[in-house]
This record gives sequence, C-alpha cells and structure tokens, in this order.
Amino acid sequence: MPFGGMASSEPDPDPPLSGLAPDEAFALLGSDTRLAIVRALWDAGAHHTFDDVDDDAGTVAFSDLQHAVSVRDNGQFNYHLSRLVPQLVTQTADGYRLSGAGKAVARSIATVTGESLFADERDLERPCPICGGRLTAEYDDQWLRVTCDSCPGSFGELGHEGTVYNAPFPPAGLEDRTPDEALTVGLRRCMLDAAYLVRRICRECAGAVSASVSVCEGHDPEEGYCGSCGTPYAVWGDVRCDTCRFAKRLPVEVFAMGLTPVIAFCHDHGVDLLTPTLDDLEAVEAGFETDVSHDPLRIDVTISAGDEFLAVAFDDTLSPLAIERQLE
Ligand SMILES: [Zn+2]
Ligand SMILES: [Zn+2]
Ligand SMILES: [Zn+2]
Repeated sequence: MPFGGMASSEPDPDPPLSGLAPDEAFALLGSDTRLAIVRALWDAGAHHTFDDVDDDAGTVAFSDLQHAVSVRDNGQFNYHLSRLVPQLVTQTADGYRLSGAGKAVARSIATVTGESLFADERDLERPCPICGGRLTAEYDDQWLRVTCDSCPGSFGELGHEGTVYNAPFPPAGLEDRTPDEALTVGLRRCMLDAAYLVRRICRECAGAVSASVSVCEGHDPEEGYCGSCGTPYAVWGDVRCDTCRFAKRLPVEVFAMGLTPVIAFCHDHGVDLLTPTLDDLEAVEAGFETDVSHDPLRIDVTISAGDEFLAVAFDDTLSPLAIERQLE
C-alpha cells in the first residue's frame, strides 16, 4: 500500500521554492496583481487535485487569467505573471496552474480565513471534568479556548483562569460543529501533535523540531496547583520548529501519551488516546506519577492502570530513554 505518493514518471517540473530565502519568497507575493493571480488560479482549481497521487492538473489560459485579474496592460500583466513562474506558478503548453509551492501558499490563506462562528462565547453541553462546572468555548485570533467558570482549570497560572483546553484552531474546523464537537476535534489534534512532536517531526512542515524541558524544583501541588510554578505539573516540555515556528508547550505526560507503548497500554485499559474525551484524559492522568532525578537529568513518568504499570524515562531533550511495562 502506498503512503508517500507515487513517484511521477516525468521529472518534477516545479523547481523548489526552498532555494529562496524567506525575504525573496515574501517579495514574490509583494504585489496585489501577483496575489490576484494566485487567487484566480486557486478559484479556478488550477492545481493538482490530490496531494499524494495525481498526474493531472487543470490550467488557465493566459488571456483568461489576465481577464480574471482585470489587468488590461499586457506588459504589466506579463511582468507580474513571469515573476511567479516557476516557483509559485507552473507554465504548461495549455496554460498556467499553481505549482506545489503555489498551492501550499493558497491553502494556508484558505486555512486561516473564514467566518468565526464563535464570535460570542458559547456554552458546552458537557460539564467540566475537574469540578462538574459549566464549560464555555471562546474563539479569538485563531485560538479555541474552553474554560470552566467554577475551578482554576488544568493549566493553573500558565493559562487564562479556568482553562481546560487552549490551542490554535483553524476557522474551518468550527464550521458546522457545536462547541462540544469542536472540543472533541481539538483534543484529537492535540494528541496527534504529541505523537508527531515526541518523534521530533513538525506537524506543519515535516521539519525537525528541537525540544527541551523545564522542571519545577520542589514542586508541591497543594490542592492541585503548585505554589512555585503555579501549575499542576512539575515538568513541561517545550518543542519548537525553527523552520515554520510551530511550537507547543505541554506537560511531559502529554508527550508520553504520544508514544506507541503508552497508546497500547491505555488501549488495553479502555482508553483510546488518539480519540480521547476530557474525561478519558482526566482518568488516565489520575494514574500518572512523575519523578525527576539529576546529573544527568532524567524524568520518570509512570502510568498505573488495573494491576500493571508502564514506566517511561525521558532525558532533558524529551527523548525516551527506556520504556518498561510490568505487573505491580
Ligand atoms: Zn471546573
Ligand atoms: Zn515546522
Ligand atoms: Zn511547581
């Protein structure tokens, strides 16, 4: 079964945009006419339809494209179009289409646009997993946040008061979804993020990510929250992609939940970590115990369920050192 997409029998006609510095790539799009050309090709569907296996792509003829962007002057139109070829626009015998990079640029614009259906706060039907209080969803600046009105939430002082979920969320993900459904999708995305990032792969650009941990020495979570770090968690993992700047700061326990043996262990005990509810995550979290030792720094995360436990050890770059499953 193919997963990465078939290799084309013809040589790739698109020279990579990767040869450009970011400044040059931004400059390519630094004109209303060039943005209009990218948009017209996108609106016409002039690009490969499938991103994995596709030998066929529609095109738009020169005169139709000029008409679509309403530039009368041939020379001026030709100048702007030629600046986009070959990096963002591919010229073929039949006309023009978006290159792979051009489609990616258009997709990212389509991804961040759209109406926000959460202009006002919306209540969730499900209650807070911590205290049973009322949960509310808000959407602002591409972030979805779910907060409880009756408890400090699960992030402590690191998040807005009462936060139980907080993450970037594309507007398209809110379309035709209730706040409860949006939260379900958000939790699944979060677990998939953890699975990618703990394997050092950026979810957005496929680049390598760097990781470090921050440890609260003398962590003492009185009534759930520590006086020093203000959160319930002693160890947080910081993972960043230097290329596209995708970055996540999550408790080390969440990164552990991205590892296959942990997913298998929890599945054996009735929880699918790739499709969890907030209650599932609360139940799994109740079985976690995390210890830190020094010289060298080592973080031991132990998960108990039923009569067995699974121990995962991480180093200071969030690399798993050892994973061991045992009966208690
Ligand atoms: Zn609550
Ligand atoms: Zn990236
Ligand atoms: Zn602490």
